[in-house]
Amino acid sequence: MMRTLRSRLVLFFVGLLVLAEATVLVLVDGAASRIATQEVDSGLRAGVAVFQRLLQQDRQQIERAGELLSADFAFREAVGTRDIPTAHSVLVNHGRRIGAGAMMIVGLDGQVIVDTLHPHSPPKPFPFADLLAAAGDSNSRGASGIVLLPEAWLYQIVVMPVLAPDLIGYVVIGFPVDDGFVQKLKTMTALEVSFAVRRADGAWTVLASTLPATSASRLATALAGVGHGADTMDFDVAGQPYLGRLAPLETKSNVPVVAALHRSVAEAAEPFDRLRLALLIVAAVTLLASVGGSIVLARRVAVPLQTLTSLARRIRDGDYATAARIDGPEEIEALADSLDHMREGIARREDEIGRLAYQDSLTGLPNRVRFQQRVDQVLRHASDTHTTAAVLLMDLDRFKNVNDALGHDVGDQVLQVVGKRLRGSLRDCDTVSRLGGDEFAVLLPGVDAEGARDIGERIAVALEEPIRLHGHTIDVGASIGATLYPVHGTDLAGLLRHADVAMYAAKRGRIQYALYDPAVEDTRAVHLSLLSELRRAVEQDELELRFQPKVDLAACRFASAEVLLRWTHPVRGVLPPSEFIPFAEHTGYIRELTRWLIEAAARQSGLWRAQGHTIRLALNVSARDLLNPDLPAIMAESLSRHGVPPDSISMEVTETALMEDPAGAHATVRRLRELGVKLSIDDYGTGFSSLAYIKRLAVDELKIDRAFIKELVHDADDQAIVRSTIELGHNLGLQVVAEGIEDAHTADKLREMGCDLGQGYHFARPLPADELMQWIDTCARLCVSAGKGVGEDTRQTVLLA
Ligand code: C2E
Ligand code: MG
Ligand code: MG
Repeated sequence: MMRTLRSRLVLFFVGLLVLAEATVLVLVDGAASRIATQEVDSGLRAGVAVFQRLLQQDRQQIERAGELLSADFAFREAVGTRDIPTAHSVLVNHGRRIGAGAMMIVGLDGQVIVDTLHPHSPPKPFPFADLLAAAGDSNSRGASGIVLLPEAWLYQIVVMPVLAPDLIGYVVIGFPVDDGFVQKLKTMTALEVSFAVRRADGAWTVLASTLPATSASRLATALAGVGHGADTMDFDVAGQPYLGRLAPLETKSNVPVVAALHRSVAEAAEPFDRLRLALLIVAAVTLLASVGGSIVLARRVAVPLQTLTSLARRIRDGDYATAARIDGPEEIEALADSLDHMREGIARREDEIGRLAYQDSLTGLPNRVRFQQRVDQVLRHASDTHTTAAVLLMDLDRFKNVNDALGHDVGDQVLQVVGKRLRGSLRDCDTVSRLGGDEFAVLLPGVDAEGARDIGERIAVALEEPIRLHGHTIDVGASIGATLYPVHGTDLAGLLRHADVAMYAAKRGRIQYALYDPAVEDTRAVHLSLLSELRRAVEQDELELRFQPKVDLAACRFASAEVLLRWTHPVRGVLPPSEFIPFAEHTGYIRELTRWLIEAAARQSGLWRAQGHTIRLALNVSARDLLNPDLPAIMAESLSRHGVPPDSISMEVTETALMEDPAGAHATVRRLRELGVKLSIDDYGTGFSSLAYIKRLAVDELKIDRAFIKELVHDADDQAIVRSTIELGHNLGLQVVAEGIEDAHTADKLREMGCDLGQGYHFARPLPADELMQWIDTCARLCVSAGKGVGEDTRQTVLLA
């Protein structure tokens, strides 16, 4: 609890105040008791003086009373005539009038004649002869003193001569030092007055005192402890401290008598007590006020701080909605302001991060992560409410061409337009996301197969309209695959996988929209396993190169070899390219395959070169390879590594492949040609290539498709086509090759037609590398005579040289 700022502030201020007030109180208290003691002491001194003065005055009064009595004629006569009864009654009357306690008449012989205290006792000597002597002195007007009478009582006595006119006796007037007397002294001195005598045994007896009886008896004991000659004596009365002074009295009795004068310190300190009380009240009031004040002050600081703390906690928990509005001290308001700016900054940045994390930056559509979240949410709801939902997956049919032909900027703009069109053809509750590249996914909550088809077709229509950008009219159709929750999948991964299958089915079927059909999945599964097998084939060298010679028809000699792939499948045996090349092309794996092919062919060519043979090789590449911008670099690198000059290599591209994407292929072909690699159009006649295009590509060779060669000898149409193709090729400066020559007649016919090169089983089947060398060895510079193919026993060879 003490750790809070508020309690610390309160504690500090209150503690400070208590310390200050306690110091003042202690100082005041010390000063007060010092002043009180001094006051009491000086009061005592004054009191002692007054006391002595009073004793003296008293004595003078008694003396005057004695003078009056001794001057009384009747009294003088009674004393002179020793008329005891008269003298006695005069004494009694006079004594009563002046309040004397004892009256005596003493004869000149020193014998007490009359004693009012003991009227009937026989005469006895007056004990204080010196007083008599002093009083009898002719100059004296009497003598006085304090005496202890034989009854052990203290008296203030005056001895006056009785003159008639000669001295005839003495009159003694005594006033007892009793309680009445001390009370009178107290009234006049404002001191406690006590008279005490020390008896013969040394103990003190208090004869008269203004103190209460119990204190008086304690005083006697205390007096015994006082040192000889000491004139101060402090004493406790009813627990209160009293300061005292001792005034020794001169007595005529040889008995020490002392007057103890006391004054209460407490009484003197009383005004200071009131001051102290007042101070305490002021201290208490200021303490209360300061506690209250510091609580209020602390709250003014601490409450805004607490508000800021809870605000900071909210910011930590991601709640940026509440602004810090604080009404407090300036510094805290400034802190609140800074916190507010921080809150806004964090909120802005978090928004931005959220946008970057969940939005596709190009199209502004939700990205894959966001799509996943949305799908999870919709599927959860669909599962709770037993409703359906659909996921559509699509990619643009010709987007690659757009990118390659018109550049990535245009490609990006096309994607943005597509994104807008998609959004425009959907309901508010639908979500469209760009998953990457030209791939988009759409989530349709609450739709069934029919609803999905409606929206899918609407999308297809929206995308069919050509996009006009920078003067280009761009046609991007889409193939859409659809899946339904829950029949085709219960999570995004499953739904997308099946939508992908459906999308490829749509592509293959050249339709815009296809709903997932589990039957399609089977062929796809086969494809998937084939793909992994093909990968393994490349990695584990299950692929092999075969070389089929191209023969110079006119010179009858080996010209070059076409490289053809064979796959020795561990289960299915040797597979021809038709079994795996189309699949590799479809999945895109052809790029890997071609890379392998180039490397293997270059290695073989390098080996042959090392053995002194220069074999020109023709490699088959696919349309997809020509869209790979890295192909020229891969080629250049492999060839140079194996020391193979590029002009000993040519590429065979089928006519249909070239026409699939003429613009895309053009750039790669041009760079390959710059490298020195030659280009051959394979299967010429089956596609629809324009001559203008072939010319622009600067092709080196045309390979007439086997379809025109097979029946050449018998088919006049084929002969016409082949003849005109040869002519056309020659006109364009190209070499013309005929493939699929299976017999000598066909070879002769083609030679006759002026065809430059021939290839076919008639000369040789595709051969392993070493067999090709044997074939060249045995058949080089041989010409094959009519009717027999190379390698048959019956062949007839003609030496050319
Ligand atoms: P293509 O480039 O037109 O190759 C010629 C095909 O005709 C070869 O089939 C060859 O064996 C066959 N052939 C050659 N002479 C005769 C003949 O006298 N009679 C008959 N009936 N056929 C003959 P293959 O090896 O099965 O290749 C088929 C196609 O596969 C090739 O056609 C080529 O387009 C493609 N291909 C082969 N190897 C590769 C390759 O490494 N990469 C790529 N992309 N495609 C390849
Ligand atoms: Mg070929
Ligand atoms: Mg061919």
